[in-house]
Amino acid sequence: MARILITSAIPYINGIKHLGNLVGSQLPADLYARYCRARGHEVLFLCATDEHGTPAELAAAKAGKPVDQFCAEMWAVQDELGRGFRLSFDHFGRSSSPQNHKLTQHFAGRLADAGLIEEVSEKQVYSNADGRFLPDRYIEGTCPNCGYDKARGDQCENCTKQLDPTDLIDPRSAISGSTDLEVRETKHLYLKQSGMRDQLNAWIDSKTDWPILTTSIARKWLNDGDGLQDRGITRDLDWGIPVKRGEADWPGMEGKVFYVWFDAPIEYIACAGEWVEAGKGTDWERWWRTDKGADDVRYVQFMGKDNVPFHTLSFPATILGSGEPWKLVDYIKSFNYLNYDGGQFSTSQGRGVFMDQALAILPSDYWRWWLLSHAPETSDSEFTWETFQQDVNKDLADVLGNFVSRITKFCRSKFGEAVPEGGAYGPQEEALIIDLEARLTRYQAHMDAIEIRKAASELRAIWVAGNEYLQSAAPWTAYKEDPERAAAITRFALNLIPFYAGLSAPFIPDAAALMVEAMNVDLAWPESAALALRQLPGGHVFAVPDVLFAKIGDEDREDWQTRFAGVRT
Ligand SMILES: [Zn+2]
Repeated sequence: MARILITSAIPYINGIKHLGNLVGSQLPADLYARYCRARGHEVLFLCATDEHGTPAELAAAKAGKPVDQFCAEMWAVQDELGRGFRLSFDHFGRSSSPQNHKLTQHFAGRLADAGLIEEVSEKQVYSNADGRFLPDRYIEGTCPNCGYDKARGDQCENCTKQLDPTDLIDPRSAISGSTDLEVRETKHLYLKQSGMRDQLNAWIDSKTDWPILTTSIARKWLNDGDGLQDRGITRDLDWGIPVKRGEADWPGMEGKVFYVWFDAPIEYIACAGEWVEAGKGTDWERWWRTDKGADDVRYVQFMGKDNVPFHTLSFPATILGSGEPWKLVDYIKSFNYLNYDGGQFSTSQGRGVFMDQALAILPSDYWRWWLLSHAPETSDSEFTWETFQQDVNKDLADVLGNFVSRITKFCRSKFGEAVPEGGAYGPQEEALIIDLEARLTRYQAHMDAIEIRKAASELRAIWVAGNEYLQSAAPWTAYKEDPERAAAITRFALNLIPFYAGLSAPFIPDAAALMVEAMNVDLAWPESAALALRQLPGGHVFAVPDVLFAKIGDEDREDWQTRFAGVRT
């Protein structure tokens, strides 16, 4: 038994996440957490909301609410949706927690003591009408390169040119539209990441088993152009973690907060403290401090590719730079993007299917199965309603659902609702056991390696093998001439149901729960196919379960296709 710490990239607070976000971090992290627990490992699975920064302030203002109240409400919404998708977090925390305030200030103090923080005076745009400094992306104006009139201070969306706010022609505040802007001097703290480049390079080089997607992005940021750049870690904002040097005030930094990218990953650690405070655990340091028991923890992170630089460079720089024995990540599983019907999912444009909408039309298992079996691991993948309908109907309804329904109903009609006695397993059953044994080994290897599509495809093949067996052994035919043989086939096929439930639970937990409930057994990971398929003895009472998966009809599919074709309003 191992101890495995799992974190999912923390979703930003300002809205409900779409299915592309879900499959890029939380859902695969949940799959792995469920698998690890099923294999008997001790797991701590953490996620939280990422609550600071200007977008949260602006979303709150738009909703007409104080930002702390807005965040508390949106946290509750995301928490509820996570439960709806059966995300089995041990704790779903908040980056605005007191634990994260304290830890973030602590890390900043340690980094300053180590000489890794620099005070930099810079010029920043101040809006007199808004009474605040404006982050680059909240200044709009005309692009000097292409003439587009809604270019942002950090980049022109039209021609993609990187900009400085002072490059813009006729700049204005994106908050109020005011043109009463001036450039003021302000001081900020910078994390001297560039000085840690060699250390980070060596650390990345040591991760020979990481996905190429992860290491290639890290190396690009380390080496391209002028190499790894120092990064500002403070902002002139109200909403955030006040800048302090540990517990002490930081002269010159009054009224400033830490930049959200600095405090968000520290929440992974703080969240474990929240988990203890919530009464769900007793000792968080044994998961996070290598001097307090975390040296045997394996730490795995899940995230979309856009988050890789922060997790491979900036957060490790914070941890290594602190000089304290914090646990560093052991494996980073990163994902490409899931696209939506010929374009991109987009939160800002409301394009695609969002978590609340998905649960309103179908149970979570349908989405979990499809999204995970199409996880964008080696390249982007695409959601279309046609493939969704086709795959769900085939894999879940025709193969798995049909198998369970067919054999339990057949047994009820011929033998009653108890596993039939009599007969013995023959060559056909022994051959399938050998086949399933090999498949089980492969499935576990894919799950251990977090190769999600390969694991899904092996699981599908395991379901198909049962269906093919039932078709060829044909207990309904055997029953007429040799009821003993029919009894053995039926007993074997019924034994496949808890075997399937155990293996399928990480993907489709609700259906797996229904399967074991109907079969009157506990959910368990099979030690071997040979043992598992002899688990239910003759006479064991079961019940025919309700239909596990209803098929998606063409009418529904067309209706959803139309309903989700536009943008969310
Ligand atoms: Zn432009």
